Amino acid sequence: MEVQTLKYPAIRNYVAGQSVESASTPTMDVFSPLSGQLISTLPLSNAAALDAAVQAAKAAFPSWSATPIKERVQIFYRYKTLLERDMKVLADLVREENGKTYDEARAEVEKAIELTEFACSMPQLIQGEFLEVSKGVEARAERKPLGVVASIAPFNFPNMVPHWTIPNAIVLGNTMILKPSEQVPLSAVKIAELLKEAGLPDGVLNIVNGDKEIVEAICDHPDIQAVSFVGSTKIAKVVYIRATSNLKRCVALGGAKNHLMVLPDAHPDMTASNVAASMSGCAGQRCMAGSTMVGVGAVDGIVAKIVEEAKKIVAGQNLGSVISKEAKARIEQHITEAEAAGAKVLLDGRNAVVPGQEDGYYVGATVIDYVTPDMRIAQEEVFGPVLAIMRTDTLDEALAIENANPYGNAAAVFTSSGSSARYVMDHANAGMIGVNIGVPVPREPFSFGGWNDSKFGACDITGKSSIEFWTQLKKTTTKWNPESRVNWMS
Ligand code: NAD
Repeated sequence: MEVQTLKYPAIRNYVAGQSVESASTPTMDVFSPLSGQLISTLPLSNAAALDAAVQAAKAAFPSWSATPIKERVQIFYRYKTLLERDMKVLADLVREENGKTYDEARAEVEKAIELTEFACSMPQLIQGEFLEVSKGVEARAERKPLGVVASIAPFNFPNMVPHWTIPNAIVLGNTMILKPSEQVPLSAVKIAELLKEAGLPDGVLNIVNGDKEIVEAICDHPDIQAVSFVGSTKIAKVVYIRATSNLKRCVALGGAKNHLMVLPDAHPDMTASNVAASMSGCAGQRCMAGSTMVGVGAVDGIVAKIVEEAKKIVAGQNLGSVISKEAKARIEQHITEAEAAGAKVLLDGRNAVVPGQEDGYYVGATVIDYVTPDMRIAQEEVFGPVLAIMRTDTLDEALAIENANPYGNAAAVFTSSGSSARYVMDHANAGMIGVNIGVPVPREPFSFGGWNDSKFGACDITGKSSIEFWTQLKKTTTKWNPESRVNWMS
């Protein structure tokens, strides 16, 4: 009865190519952060529901992994055209469930297309190796899929993060269980529909919805060979420890605290627009957000320009909502605490209200100066459109602040000096470095992944590095001519 009042049908799991009923499972409500309205419900699946999905993925594996890779990628070529065809529908879903602006949601789907294109280039990238290692004896090494693998996603990129893993892992011959964030389960339904339309065989991709219980079941399931996780550091650690203690491969990406170091010789306009965009894009809910700036020396003029740029970012227009009521309260609390601790709020986004969407979860763009490294806002991931500015006299002091934080996703420097830029490239303790770039996401074929508490596991999650993660090497040595006996091996 209630289902009829929802804007989107109740979410179901997706197993063996079918949307499946989870009638006996408890459900939770899904709200749109744009309006605060209930838009759907999702099942909080249990270990039995996961097992049904794993059995489907296991059954699909022999045939899928035996399909030549050049045939496997044909499905993803078709899928890419379907993503393009349904761009608006996909972007609207992201916007509705996550709260992004339409342009941000569209950019997310465009990135999903780029990730799919990369997967389509896999036949060129995974050619094996071959050598005559002794007279008449040949060795070859080939990349083979692992089997059933899992991908656990966060709320902040409902479409892009699943594409960090689905195209590469599946093109490489694995079958997969996707666990979307319970806060943003809509996009995954459409992704599965489009992959089916593109010709993906049933059981190759399965979706199980839920929260903690299902993540733990994934880490424990004996038939899952590898687990990728993207989310907060706290949960990334739990997942990494639990999955690897069950002898699975795991790459677990965590949170971030990215520092933008601004030098007095930086181009003022370019720096101001980059810094403002970095801290506020996707309402600051990006693991690559430049949430902390360190001004080195005389940068008051640049700070003033940043504030001017930030004033042009208006909630409900070019600034989306944050994910939940709780997130809004947490972010505003950070601002209030920083102010009480002596920081100066130059632009205050607390209590933002968007006319017509009064129940939406909005925080306006916020700039806070004279933050000190001991303040909570300088240490914790705020995950909102808030820039905390610290001041130092030297670049070494700025680097010391950046390198003291436990995370290591991104760090950036704004300068017109090549040697200062090089110095930061050499000394910043982070996996992704920007020079005059506020969001230094490595585009394909470069791989995405931070250091320290921003990533646990050896490989990155995308790009060439992910090939290592999603495959294992088979080495074969052959001899066909008994007459060519030369040394111990022949
Ligand atoms: P989250 O850690 O709360 O949730 C991520 C996933 O873990 C979800 O699927 C969720 O259902 C599950 N989960 C939540 N609590 C759990 C528990 N107690 N036990 C087991 N599983 C649990 O993260 P989020 O709030 O959805 O996403 C925001 C976070 O993700 C931020 O910290 C952000 O920096 C991070 N993130 C990092 C990257 C990166 O590349 N490093 C990318 C995107 C997001």
